[in-house]
Amino acid sequence: MKLSSAVLLLLTFIFLFTATLLAQNVIIVVVDGSRYSETFGAGNKYIPHLYNDLKPLGTLYSNCRINHPKGYTVTCPGHAAVETGTWQPIDNNGNERPTKPTIFEYIRKEDGIAKSKCYVVSGKKKLNILTYSTYKGYGSEYGAKWVGDDNKDDGQTYNKVISVMKNYKPKILVINFAQVDNAGHDGNWNDYISAIKGVDNYIYKIWKQVENGDWGYTSKNTTMFITNDHGRHDDSHGGFENHGDGCDGCTHIMLLALGRGITPDKTINNRTWQIDIAPTVGELLSFDLPVQSGNSLLSSIESTIPGKNNSNPGLNPSTNKYIEDIFPFWQITVTTKFFPRQSLFIFYPFPLSVS
Ligand SMILES: [Zn+2]
Ligand SMILES: [Zn+2]
Repeated sequence: MKLSSAVLLLLTFIFLFTATLLAQNVIIVVVDGSRYSETFGAGNKYIPHLYNDLKPLGTLYSNCRINHPKGYTVTCPGHAAVETGTWQPIDNNGNERPTKPTIFEYIRKEDGIAKSKCYVVSGKKKLNILTYSTYKGYGSEYGAKWVGDDNKDDGQTYNKVISVMKNYKPKILVINFAQVDNAGHDGNWNDYISAIKGVDNYIYKIWKQVENGDWGYTSKNTTMFITNDHGRHDDSHGGFENHGDGCDGCTHIMLLALGRGITPDKTINNRTWQIDIAPTVGELLSFDLPVQSGNSLLSSIESTIPGKNNSNPGLNPSTNKYIEDIFPFWQITVTTKFFPRQSLFIFYPFPLSVS
C-alpha cells in the first residue's frame, strides 16, 4: 500500500509539472518597419512605455540584425525569418509561403495541440502566408489560425488581438502591427512618429493584460518578444520612407524580450539575429526545430541547475523559478521516451553536486 501511495504521489507530481509546462505561452509582436533610430535608438523619446515600463522587465538585444542579403529587409521575408529561424528570401506580395517549417508547425507536429492554440493576427492581408510552410512533412495540417485585413490601423489590430487572446488563449501568438510601415511609405514623418507612439501604447496594454492574469496569461507563464520584420533606410540611404536593402537602417531591428525565462533589466550589446527568435521560442516551450539555423538567445536548460555557471548573460538563471516557488527542491531536467514532448522534472530534496 505504501508503494502505491508513493506511485500515486509521483504521478500527481508529474501531472502537475506537465500541466504547468502546457500553460506556458509566447507572444511575438512585430512592429512593421519601425527604424531602430526611432525606437530604442532614441531612448524613451518615441516609445515611452517600451523604454520606461517594459525594458526594465526584460532583456534588450540592442544589436539585433537581418543578415542581408541572405535575409531580405521587407515584410514577408522578415516575418517568415522570425517564425522559421531561417533566412527566407521569398516573395513580398504574399504569393509564397515560408519554405521552412514555422514554430506553429513544429509545436503542433510535436505536441498535437489544437490549431487555435497557434494564432496570427495581422494588419496586412498578405501575411496569411505565415500560418504554415511548404516544407515536406509539415504544412497546413500543422498550421496556425489567422485573422487580419489590410486596414493597417493598429487600433483595429489591437482589438483583434484582445479578442483572440480572450476567446482562444493561444499558446503562440504572432502579431503584426502594420501602421508604422504604412505611415513610413506615405512619407509623412509626423504620421510615422505618431504611429510609433501609438503602437508603443498598444503593446504596453497587451503586456498589462498579461500581468493582470487575464485569460490565463501571467508574467510567470508568458514570454513576450517585441521586434521588427525590417527597419527602414537610414538617412544616407534614402531615409525613412522606404526600405529593402542592406543599409544599417534597414538591417538593424529592435528586440526586447520579457516575461518568463528572461533576465530583467539587462541589455545585451552582442550581435544577435532575427533568426534567433524561433529557436528561443522552441527552448522556452520545449519543442525541437530540426530545420532552423539560428541560435537560442537562452543558454541550454542545464545551466538552470544551481551552481552551474551561466555563460549567457541573457539567461535568467531561474528559468523555472515559478516551479521552484511551488516545490523548493533542486532539480534536473531530462527528456524521456515516456514524455517525449515535455521535460520531466525530477526533484531531489537535497542539492545536486554539479562539476
Ligand atoms: Zn514590413
Ligand atoms: Zn536601407
